[in-house]
Amino acid sequence: MRTKNRQPKIKLLALKTRSFILDIFFPSFCVTCKKEGVFLCKDCKKRIDIFKTPSHFPKKSKLEIFYCATKYKQDEIEKLIYSFKYQFIKEIKNELCEILMEHLKISGFKKNSSQVLIPVPLHKKRLRWRGFNQSEILAKEISDHFDIPMITNVLFRKKYTEPQTLKQDRKERIKNVKNAFLCKNIEIIKDKEIILIDDVLTTGATLKECAKILSKNNIKKIIAITIAK
Ligand SMILES: [Zn+2]
Repeated sequence: MRTKNRQPKIKLLALKTRSFILDIFFPSFCVTCKKEGVFLCKDCKKRIDIFKTPSHFPKKSKLEIFYCATKYKQDEIEKLIYSFKYQFIKEIKNELCEILMEHLKISGFKKNSSQVLIPVPLHKKRLRWRGFNQSEILAKEISDHFDIPMITNVLFRKKYTEPQTLKQDRKERIKNVKNAFLCKNIEIIKDKEIILIDDVLTTGATLKECAKILSKNNIKKIIAITIAK
């Protein structure tokens, strides 16, 4: 019994120590106004326009509903996502997920027992470079919050592609991700409602390509969740 009680305390202590060390060496500053102690201060957060309804993909797409929290083209969001993905500040997941949870709440997202979360996978090479998959970090937060299982052993990225943000042309972006993914262990997703998780939607080519390959299996439906578009 004692060991059981001690475990969470040790974990909490480890987390606090980590946060203390991080604060000394990497103090957090608001990404826009540089106020110390947070990555996004209350005043700057107020400026973020959180969408109140979900979006829909075109009818012929395999994706049905699409929950996107806010638009990418606002200073706060662009800077949060940049620091998260390219300055590797994993802790920014908290600010991003706070915005996302608020959107899911007001736009009527409902959980159900057939749902599973699948983060858009990174290619091994990019995963080595960044050290983490940003979509998986977001999916883990959603998984903990709603108690929906996260699955990372079904969808894989087989083709190394240039980041979609570097491809300006729409056709180029579609070509870039074409046949980039593959499925394994498909029995896990049988009759499931799949929730694809990505950080940012650019043209939607990545999500559509993931949905296309996943829909070839016996699944119920596919929806998507992203922070911004
Ligand atoms: Zn601020």
